Amino acid sequence: MSATPLISSVDSRTSEIIPPLVGASLAELSTWVQQQGQPAYRGKQLHEWIYQKGVRSLCDISVFPKQWRAELAKISIGRSNIHHRAVAPDGTIKYLLQLTDGQIIETVGIPTDKRLTVCVSTQVGCPMACDFCATGKGGYKRNLARYEIVDQVLTVQEDFQQRVSHVVFMGMGEPLLNTENVLAALRSLNQDVGIGQRSLTVSTVGIRDRIRQLAQHHLQITLAVSLHAPNQALREQLIPSARPYPLEDLLAECREYVEITGRRVSFEYILLAGVNDLPEQALELAKRLRGFQSHVNLIPYNPIAEVDYKRPNRDRIQAFVNILKQQQIAVSVRYSRGLEADAACGQLRINKK
Ligand code: SAH
Repeated sequence: MSATPLISSVDSRTSEIIPPLVGASLAELSTWVQQQGQPAYRGKQLHEWIYQKGVRSLCDISVFPKQWRAELAKISIGRSNIHHRAVAPDGTIKYLLQLTDGQIIETVGIPTDKRLTVCVSTQVGCPMACDFCATGKGGYKRNLARYEIVDQVLTVQEDFQQRVSHVVFMGMGEPLLNTENVLAALRSLNQDVGIGQRSLTVSTVGIRDRIRQLAQHHLQITLAVSLHAPNQALREQLIPSARPYPLEDLLAECREYVEITGRRVSFEYILLAGVNDLPEQALELAKRLRGFQSHVNLIPYNPIAEVDYKRPNRDRIQAFVNILKQQQIAVSVRYSRGLEADAACGQLRINKK
C-alpha cells in the first residue's frame, strides 16, 4: 500500500483499545486479543475477519476457540443496521443506517464502470447550516466515531458484494469539525480496508486553521473545498459559517495545503440559477483562482424542499464551464447520481425517518 507515513498518533495508542473494534489497526487488534488472554496471532485473524470477511458479530469468527467465542458475543464489533435502502435506476443505492444508539445517518454507494464509490457521513446532522443543503436544515446531533465511519464502507462493500474502490467524505456533516475521528477513519480505510490514499476525498466547507492542520499529516488524499461563490459577500449569504472566515484567509490556507502536500485542491461550486452562475461570476472566480494548483468541480444544484433555489439549464452551465476553460482553469461538471432516490444530501433521512 502507500509508503506515506500515516497518522502515527492513532497507532501509538495501542494500550487502550476499547471496543467497538471496527476501525482498529492490526497492532491495536493484536494488543487487544492479548489483553483478552489470547495469543497475538489471533489479532491477525480478527483483522482479516473484520475487514476482508466483513463479519458482523465476533461470535461468528469460526477460527476462534468455542469458549472464547461465547465470551465475545457481548463485545461490540460496531456494525450498523440497514434501516432503509433505496435503489435508483442508475444503480446508485442510498442507505439509511441505524447506529448502535438508534441515530440514523445517510450513506450512498455509487457504482460506475469498474469503480464503487462510497459517500460517507461524518456527523449525525450538521451544524454548518448552508442555505442550499438539506442536512443543514435538520440540525446537528453529534460527531461520528471512527468505527461508525469505517462501518459505512464495510456495509456498502457487503451489500454490493464488490470491493469499494473510492470513498468521498461528502455525506452528512462537516469532516473538519470531527478531524480526529476522520483522520483515524482515513488511516483505517487506507491500511485496513485497503483503499489507496489517492482514492480518498475529504470535502470541507472550511473551518479556520483546520486545513492547515490537516496539511501537517502529509496525506496523499484529495482535499475538496466547498467554495460556492467567487467573493466573500455572496459566500456569506449562502454559507452563514463563512462570516467570521474571509474567503482570502480560506484560500491562503488552501495555498499552504498545496505547498505542504504537493496535492492540488479541488474546489466545489454549486450552480444556483441567477445567484452564482452569471458570466461575470465565472470570470471573478477564474481571477481568484489564477495560478492556483486547483480543479473546479461544478455541481448543478439538487433541489431540496426547504428553499426555492433553481438549477441552471444546460446552456447556462456550459457557458460557465466555457468561461473557466478560456481562463485556463481546470474544470469539470459533476451531475449527482441517484436523483430519483432523494439525492440531495440529507433528503432521504428527512423523508423516511
Ligand atoms: N460539509 C462538507 C461535506 C458535506 S456536503 C462540505 O460542505 O463540503 C458535500 C457537498 O455537497 C458540498 O460541496 C455541499 O455544498 C454539496 N451540497 C449540499 N447540498 C447540495 C444540494 N442541494 N445540491 C448540490 N450539492 C449540494
